[in-house]
Amino acid sequence: MIQAYTLFSGSSGNSIYIRDEKTEILIDAGRSCSLIQGALLELGTCLQNISAIFVTHEHSDHIKGLEIISKKFKIPVHMTYPSYAGGVSRGTFLDECTTPHDVVYEVKCGTLCVKSFPIPHDSEQNVGYLIESKGEVFGIATDIGHLTTTIVDSLVKCERIIVESNHDIKMLKSGPYPSFLKQRILSSLGHLSNVDCAKLCVYLCQNGVKGITLAHLSKENNTPALAFDEVRRALDSNNLENIPIRVAMPENTVCATE
Ligand SMILES: [Zn+2]
Ligand SMILES: [Zn+2]
Repeated sequence: MIQAYTLFSGSSGNSIYIRDEKTEILIDAGRSCSLIQGALLELGTCLQNISAIFVTHEHSDHIKGLEIISKKFKIPVHMTYPSYAGGVSRGTFLDECTTPHDVVYEVKCGTLCVKSFPIPHDSEQNVGYLIESKGEVFGIATDIGHLTTTIVDSLVKCERIIVESNHDIKMLKSGPYPSFLKQRILSSLGHLSNVDCAKLCVYLCQNGVKGITLAHLSKENNTPALAFDEVRRALDSNNLENIPIRVAMPENTVCATE
């Protein structure tokens, strides 16, 4: 059985821990080595047990701790060629631990099978992941500029998912961000709003997804209650009251599979 936990989530840094009975991996390492190690210790594990780190994209909130963690603990890193090149050009030096790969990629990692799929975003590249163990599939998609059929078709195969619910559009528009930043977030290469996330969740849950964790919430332009209520209302009005919704916290571990 797959267990997934958001360790950190949002613009201050992202990291997701996933395991089945035998294999443990991280998706992203966007906080410091000591913070990620601390979060893992609370779950009864540690970086020494991590078989690989899969990186969605090269923005600093996803790779802040990556270089130190991968070197110190000799953990293999998987990331796309463009994100690898982008990370290197911004000064993240990743040595032979790293396997740059194509956008659509599939690799066996112990007892887990990990597949990537493209997500539009204003990074060199961004990918989501499907993680499979014994026929069960868990999906992750964040930093979503806009929804594509690839994203929908990938996530619909999953039992449970972690998906971005970044901002409340009203809060963003009336909030303190400078207008270029508002435009960036609202653009087709920015982030997914609560309302678009809710529409996606309705479709996915009508087609077999059984649990949702909302992630990468904006601190300034969203609240956990707003994100939760938007998706809860949409699911309830489509007779999906039984689907559990969780909200990932910026600094605290949240289980995405209970
Ligand atoms: Zn990003
Ligand atoms: Zn991000």
